[in-house]
Amino acid sequence: MIKFKGGGIAPGVSRAVEIETDNHLPDEVEVVVIGGGFIGCSTALNLAERGVSVALCEKGAIAGEASGRAAGLVEYEHLSPIKMELIARSMELWREMPERVNADIGYTGPGLVTLYKDEKPALAAKQWIDSMQGITAMQARMLAANEINSIDPALGSDWHSALYQPNGAAIEPRLAAPAIASRAQEKGAKLIQNCAVRTIERQAGKIHSVITEQGEIKTSNVVIAGGTWSSSLAAQLDLKLPQLMIFAEMISVEPLSDGPAIAGMTPAGYFRPQTDGGYSFGTAAGVIPITPSILKNLRDLMSMPTDVDQEILPALSLSTFLREMKANRKQAADSLSIYEQHRILQPEFVGNTSSAMVEGMREYIPAFADVKIRERYTGSLFASMDNLGVISSVKSIPGLYLGTGLLYGLTTGAATGEALADMITGKKTRIDVSPYRYERFIDGSKFEFHP
Ligand SMILES: Cc1cc2nc3c(=O)[nH]c(=O)nc-3n(C[C@H](O)[C@H](O)[C@H](O)COP(=O)(O)OP(=O)(O)OC[C@H]3O[C@@H](n4cnc5c(N)ncnc54)[C@H](O)[C@@H]3O)c2cc1C
Repeated sequence: MIKFKGGGIAPGVSRAVEIETDNHLPDEVEVVVIGGGFIGCSTALNLAERGVSVALCEKGAIAGEASGRAAGLVEYEHLSPIKMELIARSMELWREMPERVNADIGYTGPGLVTLYKDEKPALAAKQWIDSMQGITAMQARMLAANEINSIDPALGSDWHSALYQPNGAAIEPRLAAPAIASRAQEKGAKLIQNCAVRTIERQAGKIHSVITEQGEIKTSNVVIAGGTWSSSLAAQLDLKLPQLMIFAEMISVEPLSDGPAIAGMTPAGYFRPQTDGGYSFGTAAGVIPITPSILKNLRDLMSMPTDVDQEILPALSLSTFLREMKANRKQAADSLSIYEQHRILQPEFVGNTSSAMVEGMREYIPAFADVKIRERYTGSLFASMDNLGVISSVKSIPGLYLGTGLLYGLTTGAATGEALADMITGKKTRIDVSPYRYERFIDGSKFEFHP
């Protein structure tokens, strides 16, 4: 059990590397992207590469929220088959990304390993692999104890077995979205940071402009890629787009010699080599703060399967509850909005999950025996209530696109941006985006949870 002491939202500081901002708001562009996380930056890059005029507005800093705080794993263990096409395309795009953006994004891989101490989780992994038969993008396979060393000798030898994702990888969240955004800027995109979009305006039912804290930008296309704030932005347009949040902790440890070169998972949590020889550790434990959206969708959420590997508990946080209530109210175009009041969202420390994680890492991987913690931070993951995400136009509002609610938004972010750019430019999407359509939430479709 994790101990959670309330832990609302604290004013955050970005962990991501800073990039140049454009000081002048363009009067008019073809597309405005709201949000500078993986999805917004990737959408902007894809559009700019195709010669489309695009402005990306970010209320805080590029990758200030989830995209700069993630564990960094590009992976798909235990995810449902419906997600595999998007993930497989994203993995290809991540592999090509360092060259495409001409920058170090801390890419480690390809290859990702999950280590098991005993038979129970190994059996669950094997069953998951068996259930994925026939899905061509799926490459994961089991490794016997004596094969693990050949993947990376630093993983140690005292393992029952492992799951290996040869197409999995890792990237450095502090570097990746900023590098993508910088490349988009070089290709002509306008990147305006510290620039909250307060309202999205329509004329004759179609998208007409956005009103930001710095003024108006005329446009006929808007992409909402606002992460956890996407629900609030959708509510401004009277669209129902409920998402849940998961607060989680991360640890960064000092550089060490002889650590694993591969990223992966132990029963204690995730590990990922950083570019300076340090490591990021993340835990599968977290808390779901109870918010008005959770209460409204409680019946659907009760049908969620309990994942054996996750330790995610509901928790009360009055400040988070009230923040969501305020965020879902109409924001005024001419006064300070909730988005400016929360430039960078950062959950307060959520308990003692990281101490147990570090202890476990010390025990499991010989090279981690004496690790020294240099940083501890938190982030908020978010997902659509059915845990699938939304990559979609919106039938009732021509010119509006949604890219949000993908729990593994780092893994899927690269392909999500490509798909959104395909949709906006009228190109056939490389992947089938129909499962991710927005209208499933409002057309009476049966609620289905997707692991
Ligand atoms: C601790 C942690 C570990 C994780 N580990 C992994 C992992 O290993 N692998 C994986 O695949 N995923 C992981 N994730 C999830 C992943 O980080 C997210 O799914 C992904 O970053 C989401 O990207 P995004 O672009 O949708 O949202 P975000 O990164 O949240 O970006 C949205 C941006 O929109 C901006 N914004 C919102 N409203 C406005 C407005 N009105 N005007 C202007 N800007 C606005 C916000 O400031 C924010 O910067 C992790 C997340 C956390 C927190």
